[in-house]
Amino acid sequence: MTAAIEALAGFRASIGADRVITDAATCALYSQDVYRRGTPALAVLQPQDRSEVIAIVQSARASRTALHVRGGGMSYTDAYLPIDGHSAIVDLTGLKRIRSLSTLDLTVTAESGCTWAELDTALAPHGLRAKFWGPMSGARATLGGGMSQGAATFGSARHGTSASAALGFEVVLGTGETLDTARLGHSEREAFFRPYGPDLTGLFTGDAGALGIKTAVTLQLEPRPAVRDSVSFAFDSFEALATTAAAVARRGLATEMFGLETALARLAAGDAALAQDLGMLWQVVRAQHGIGAALKQLLRMARGGRRFLSGSTYIGHFLCEAHDSRRLALDLQELRTMAAEHGREVANSMAAVVQAQPFPAPMVVGPAGRRLLPLHVILPHSAAAAFHADFIALRDREAAHCAAHRVCVFVVFAAVGPSALLYEPVIYWEDEWLPLHAATLPTELQSVLKPGVANPEGREYVERLRLTIVELMRQHAGAHLQIGRAYPYLQDRSPAFRSLLRQLKNEVDPLNLINPGALGLPP
Ligand SMILES: Cc1cc2nc3c(=O)[nH]c(=O)nc-3n(C[C@H](O)[C@H](O)[C@H](O)COP(=O)(O)OP(=O)(O)OC[C@H]3O[C@@H](n4cnc5c(N)ncnc54)[C@H](O)[C@@H]3O)c2cc1C
Repeated sequence: MTAAIEALAGFRASIGADRVITDAATCALYSQDVYRRGTPALAVLQPQDRSEVIAIVQSARASRTALHVRGGGMSYTDAYLPIDGHSAIVDLTGLKRIRSLSTLDLTVTAESGCTWAELDTALAPHGLRAKFWGPMSGARATLGGGMSQGAATFGSARHGTSASAALGFEVVLGTGETLDTARLGHSEREAFFRPYGPDLTGLFTGDAGALGIKTAVTLQLEPRPAVRDSVSFAFDSFEALATTAAAVARRGLATEMFGLETALARLAAGDAALAQDLGMLWQVVRAQHGIGAALKQLLRMARGGRRFLSGSTYIGHFLCEAHDSRRLALDLQELRTMAAEHGREVANSMAAVVQAQPFPAPMVVGPAGRRLLPLHVILPHSAAAAFHADFIALRDREAAHCAAHRVCVFVVFAAVGPSALLYEPVIYWEDEWLPLHAATLPTELQSVLKPGVANPEGREYVERLRLTIVELMRQHAGAHLQIGRAYPYLQDRSPAFRSLLRQLKNEVDPLNLINPGALGLPP
């Protein structure tokens, strides 16, 4: 028997032939991410519970098959792409049960393939939500992906990243054993308190899945806010935007804050016409908050229109929430006073759309159907201006190449906790789509957004540009979420740090079968 036949026979015996998918199109689809293709895996494995994940690991050990763990597949950091053909994709989206919810202790334990949107929908009737409650890709992105990648957005201006909500993980290790990072030996009780001794839960957050396969996640919950609103400001300089974002984050006035270059908003406005936004908002706000609130929001947007897209360089959106309208009004008032020192208030159209519909179908392509590759670096507020100056100089130097290859780069920003700014250059380029893009985008958008013609030289240039930008981020000693195989996590660490991590990997996955190459560990 060849190695491949032996491996497939083992997986079929472990979880049943119908959950070992081997057709070429599915294997190719699951072996690519939003950025690019990996080597197609031998099979896509679809376990339905933890015991099947364990059976898969044991079978992979016997046939020495690499396992690349995939949640929603919404990343773009090569994080789960197979390196060689003797690999299988473990698709965790079949594990989506909510195992337990305690409205008294404010904790929930859900299987890792549950999406952030599914969790939020399940918690809403209880008046609860997770403390960090998802990335914008949460209609597809999973709890396991968010915890292993490290994610930011909903709740991040106040609480930081996905790690802030993690209380405990159930992890199937590369040895086939199960590790529960927080459960106490003799107890059936789910995780409820994280800092009990050295933080093993923390060890598995942001591990790019290199340390094991998370099968369940226990999250800290909080009461859902009763009221919410948003304000948006236009700024003439990055410094004005960044100073305001830092001041607002320090005071904890916004639950989410994101900003972008006005030029990007203008580009996107071509696709998402005001009328479309108005229609969507009308439906969503009316369903959630009644006809009065919907009318108020529409009037605000109709008055502001898209005039805010001219005459400024950056736009900042501040999403605020509170448990009563008096508190919300005070926060908004304070925020407006702070922001008015550096910018001018504009229509809050984009912020209102995000607040009304936090988990839309993920936009895996950019304006006019361009391909996209987001990169990011997290810097303390005090270091953001220096990085920005260097980044803009780099972008200016690359302008002629970008134009020649039909590439453009815009920056978006987000506040992550009180100390840091997430600076996210997004590369857009004209190119054909991967099957993943067509499989993810809803049909109605595919009639508006179209793939470009194949642009292999542009694609190669994008890869060179990606490496140049990542190197600039490294020089500025920035931190990253979504490490995957894209960021130099181990490169500048002390020998002791590298050695500890390698020994840890060796302990939990001695055959190096789980996500080999992720987290900067040897492939
Ligand atoms: C349109 C769009 C919007 C986005 N918005 C945001 C955003 O607002 N904030 C943000 O932070 N990111 C965002 N992202 C990036 C990405 O979607 C997130 O990082 C998300 O958390 C990835 O989750 P996933 O389930 O799709 O993970 P995948 O892409 O499937 O996997 C990501 C990594 O996690 C590992 N992994 C997945 N599940 C497990 C598991 N159960 N056990 C162990 N390892 C596992 C994989 O092996 C891989 O290393 C966005 C992406 C797109 C395309």
